[in-house]
Amino acid sequence: MSLAETIPHKLQSRIDHIIDNVTPNPWLSEQQKQDYIGKIKVLLKQKNAVLIAHYYVDDELQALAEQTGGYVSDSLDMANFGAKHPAETLVVCGVRFMGETAKILSPEKTVIMPTLEAECSLDLGCPVDEFSQFCDQYPDHEVVVYANTSVEVKARADWIVTSSNAVQIIQHLMAQGKKIIWGPDRHLGQYINNKTGANMILWQGHCVVHDEFKLYELEQLMKKYPDAEVLVHPESPESVIAQADFVGSTKQIIAAGKASKADTLIIATDYGLFYKMSQTVPDKRLIPAPTGGKSATCKSCAHCPWMAMNTLVNLYETLRDTKNVVEVDEQTRQKALVPLNRMLDFSYQQGILTAGDA
Ligand code: SF4
Repeated sequence: MSLAETIPHKLQSRIDHIIDNVTPNPWLSEQQKQDYIGKIKVLLKQKNAVLIAHYYVDDELQALAEQTGGYVSDSLDMANFGAKHPAETLVVCGVRFMGETAKILSPEKTVIMPTLEAECSLDLGCPVDEFSQFCDQYPDHEVVVYANTSVEVKARADWIVTSSNAVQIIQHLMAQGKKIIWGPDRHLGQYINNKTGANMILWQGHCVVHDEFKLYELEQLMKKYPDAEVLVHPESPESVIAQADFVGSTKQIIAAGKASKADTLIIATDYGLFYKMSQTVPDKRLIPAPTGGKSATCKSCAHCPWMAMNTLVNLYETLRDTKNVVEVDEQTRQKALVPLNRMLDFSYQQGILTAGDA
């Protein structure tokens, strides 16, 4: 068995253990929420800080970022926004690799997060030592990694990509005749292989949220809503992607929902995205793609357990004490910056990112 087939199995029990031990969030009354929101707004100003939230964190954190001049987006845009914003402190509501990416691009700024324990199964499932060993077996291959990786894995890569630009970057490398190693998400890697014919060697990681979308239950739902359009994130299984009217990143799903003429949209990604989608398409019926049902039980149930660890309470405490500071080794940061800048330059050249994104 190859490393790519064996390592993730070994890591799966660690991922499961971490998910099973995620601390439940404290319940807050409406009054308590408003109190925290008021205090956070004051602290953001006092500390010259800006709130940058991912689409998958809870609605109230996304709303707070919007109300305070911050930003809600995907991981690439979040880091890019942070780098261009004048605030001295970036408060990243998301998971650890997002804080690290912000720090890679903004070393002079203080980057803090509501919790440093918010992980990502793709990051956890791709430790740098094992991944490096895997890459060393194919010295003539370009190493392309997804943004959902540690700073150390990024430093080992030739290219970093996100789900917004992965297909274009792989096509760009194919045009140069490059052979490619892809990590860590096996579903996204397979989707790109199918779409481009790249025949990349795939690391076998997975996202615990998207991996749970189920074909049988999706087909039942599509029968119930025959006019619905199905929008799918490419971290989902191949069988689910095969049902999609549209496949794309979070940001692209929002745009596709806006462009769609359908009244009903079935969406296969974390339901945190529904906050933004309901702003963009308020008249459409939004239905989460199924993760449970007769053929399955879900663990994440379409909401990332680590994104859910970001709360008003730990956001307030983090800002108050300027704690949970993201630190990145400078030498590793310099190495990771090379493929990250390569991706940003490519994305600007191709119009995937524009100055208006930041
Ligand atoms: S939703 Fe999936 S890919 Fe995103 S942070 Fe959670 S585990 Fe990672």
